[in-house]
Amino acid sequence: MKTYFLPQHELPSFVSTLLQTTRVIGPVAKKHKFVFARLASADELRLDYDVTILPPKKAIFPQTQPLLKFSPEGYEDVGTPQPQILFGVHFYDVKALDMLDEFFTDGHADRRYLDNREATTIVASSIQHINERAFFASVGADVKPRGHDAFLTAIEGGYVYEILTDKGEALIKHGSFRAATGDEVSSAYAANAEALDKCPQHIYHSTREIGRRVRAAFGRDEVWDELAEKCFSCGTCNTTCPTCYCFDVQDKWNLDQASGVRERTWDGCLLDDFARVSLGEGATDNFREKAAQRFRHRVMRKTSYLNEKLGGPACVGCGRCAIGCVPDIADPVRIINRIMEG
Ligand code: SF4
Ligand code: SF4
Repeated sequence: MKTYFLPQHELPSFVSTLLQTTRVIGPVAKKHKFVFARLASADELRLDYDVTILPPKKAIFPQTQPLLKFSPEGYEDVGTPQPQILFGVHFYDVKALDMLDEFFTDGHADRRYLDNREATTIVASSIQHINERAFFASVGADVKPRGHDAFLTAIEGGYVYEILTDKGEALIKHGSFRAATGDEVSSAYAANAEALDKCPQHIYHSTREIGRRVRAAFGRDEVWDELAEKCFSCGTCNTTCPTCYCFDVQDKWNLDQASGVRERTWDGCLLDDFARVSLGEGATDNFREKAAQRFRHRVMRKTSYLNEKLGGPACVGCGRCAIGCVPDIADPVRIINRIMEG
């Protein structure tokens, strides 16, 4: 594995050069928070962010994605993937993208997702500030991130750039990199270990034990009613989650009522209508009608149902759901600890 060093003052010039030829998406400030957005200039890049409102998956699996245009003459594919660099992704979000890779490849492979994924180079970056709701150090610790092409770690005086793939290596010709020294590599290792040590929230139970106990609590309606009592089914805990991947497909008709566009949009299992199905002749049934049933379903998915497929929980401990939930009931740390209490 090759490792390079980029002096701190050379980062803007490196990113500026990338921007001349490629779309670069990275963390930028939005009032007092951060979002992943297309960079207009290198000055916007904020590698010191703690967490973004929405995860970087939106660059590969957008909130709304046109699939095809249709008309009486037939249909045409839309949305050719463009090469892009996803810059400054924290390791927990790389792990989440690894999970999406798995979900979208399994069974009937999702070409839309996989084409965008293939066109994307991911430069991960070290965590310089940690959000107070994060618990990434205590979920799926033995599941390592693997889908990035390079990893940039901030150390004193600059950045250590570790190359994992040819796509990661292809970027170094755009910056003033030199080979990293042994001390610089050790400093990078220590900086990443420190971020894990400083992660503020903790779950003190093994993945296996959590999976077993949560599943065993499925029929305890009083627990789910209590946990979901203040839930107003806004779906924020779904839409902010880097590992959620459900979507809805709808046709939008033009005024001519003969042509239109088919697009998919993010969906969420906490939303009231998510489990509503047609019974024909205008009749419907909602098989998770109560908020507590939908709340339970999300927790089961994150902690139990997907463990076997992923080798760990479908939660990476980013804390976004805890930050975004207005009544503050979506935090997996709180939920799991409540269930483990018995
Ligand atoms: S964010 Fe909170 S209130 Fe909204 S659906 Fe999720 S648990 Fe319910
Ligand atoms: S469940 Fe919450 S903490 Fe876990 S990955 Fe999703 S948003 Fe992050």
